[in-house]
Amino acid sequence: MALQFFNTYSREVEEFEPRDPAARPISIYTCGPTVYSRAHIGNFRAYIFEDLLQRHLELRGYKVHRVMNITDVDDKTIRGAREAKIPLSKFTAPFKQAFFEDIETLRIKRADEFPAATDQHYVDRMIEMISALISRGLAYQADDKSVYFRINKFPDYGKLAHFDLTQLQSTGRVKHDEYDKEHIGDFALWKAWDEEDGDVAWESPWGPGRPGWHIECSAMATALLGDEIDIHCGGVDNIFPHHEAEIAQSEGVTGKKFVRYWLHCAHLLVDGQKMSKSLGNFYTLPDLLEKGYTGREIRYALMWVHYRAPLNFTWEGMQEARQALIRTDEWLARLREKSRETSVQRSTSNVQRPTQEFEEALDDDLNISAALGFSFEIIRETNRAMDRNELDAASAKAWLDWWKRVNNVLDLETEAEVVIPAEVAQVAKERENARREKNWRKSDELRDRIAALGWDVRDTNDGQKLTLRARSG
Ligand code: AMP
Ligand code: ZN
Repeated sequence: MALQFFNTYSREVEEFEPRDPAARPISIYTCGPTVYSRAHIGNFRAYIFEDLLQRHLELRGYKVHRVMNITDVDDKTIRGAREAKIPLSKFTAPFKQAFFEDIETLRIKRADEFPAATDQHYVDRMIEMISALISRGLAYQADDKSVYFRINKFPDYGKLAHFDLTQLQSTGRVKHDEYDKEHIGDFALWKAWDEEDGDVAWESPWGPGRPGWHIECSAMATALLGDEIDIHCGGVDNIFPHHEAEIAQSEGVTGKKFVRYWLHCAHLLVDGQKMSKSLGNFYTLPDLLEKGYTGREIRYALMWVHYRAPLNFTWEGMQEARQALIRTDEWLARLREKSRETSVQRSTSNVQRPTQEFEEALDDDLNISAALGFSFEIIRETNRAMDRNELDAASAKAWLDWWKRVNNVLDLETEAEVVIPAEVAQVAKERENARREKNWRKSDELRDRIAALGWDVRDTNDGQKLTLRARSG
């Protein structure tokens, strides 16, 4: 079966035909986090789905160039900085760092680029795009000095969300501060400065202000990946208005088809409702780590259901993830042992030759449940064959090679456990006490002692993290 994906734009499963795979990598743009608080595991469901997508494309021999933006200016980040009485960049910095720590824990591959919306280079590009839209009659400055996109002038507006504009007229809500728009659905490209923005402002031809969220993504995506992108992803809540607006802005400027394949993942739910900050029904990664779950267990629990099906978060689900990984670990240990045997016994089992079923399941719109189902069938059958002594060392090796290939996509293998020596742990404990008492001098001295024992200590939001010092030579 050829590689195929469900395209939100057409609402159909389509064969994947990237623009020019021989000459350039597959370009993928993913909407990244808004760094006003720590991301929750619902957000990470989206990023894990995107990770799976990238890894499967790579397994199929494609090169991938992926960009994930960081939204570090919007209403929420500005409000947070104002409430904390610190500059915007100081407010967002720890959340950016936490995001990178979390993706590492979850083994999510880093994008090739993480452009930030506040980077002057991209702000210039946003201003350039807005100017082009105004000159084409696709945008206008309203009496409130903000600049809006004129959706009536873009006939394709609504095609991604399969949305009828007349519905917008009747059901949309008018926000009190948007009374001077021409159409209720017109969205802000440039938000004129107001007092609430404090010192967050950039100069523009329309006066001081800041970019709207939608134009940030259009500018960063086209700046780094060109006018036409192979795949654009996000969660289903991004479809409207965010991605609809990205299409209108980008195509309004370039005149080219912005994205070939739109892929959206369904939500992580809690008791049937979307996990979200606003509902307060969320867990962060440190919440789950504190309960004793590991990064790979959480990765598994967020990955195992097809990305277009809603996934309910439950503690039973976490336990199932743990059991599934224990089974995999035990199977791998057993296979490794078998592969080292030197007897000349021949396999009589019919599970001696790995097949392509895992990859083929993923070719079918990333059908991870089928791919994992197949993997567990293999585990069951090879275990049974080993029970009966029907699997020889060569077959065991072949299955280990198969697993290596499969694990390039899943990335679920256990890491060798790092044992922290008692002496190091003791000094770290003393240091934790010193920090609690705000005795920074002592804390620094103890850090040096830990270093002398060959360990590095990092202070994170979840306390100290110890890592073995890299040895040179
Ligand atoms: P945000 O930081 O709110 O812009 O969200 C970042 C990404 O997470 C977007 O792609 C959202 O669509 C996605 N997202 C937010 N909540 C959930 C959820 N409960 N389940 C899956 N994805 C989500
Ligand atoms: Zn975006």
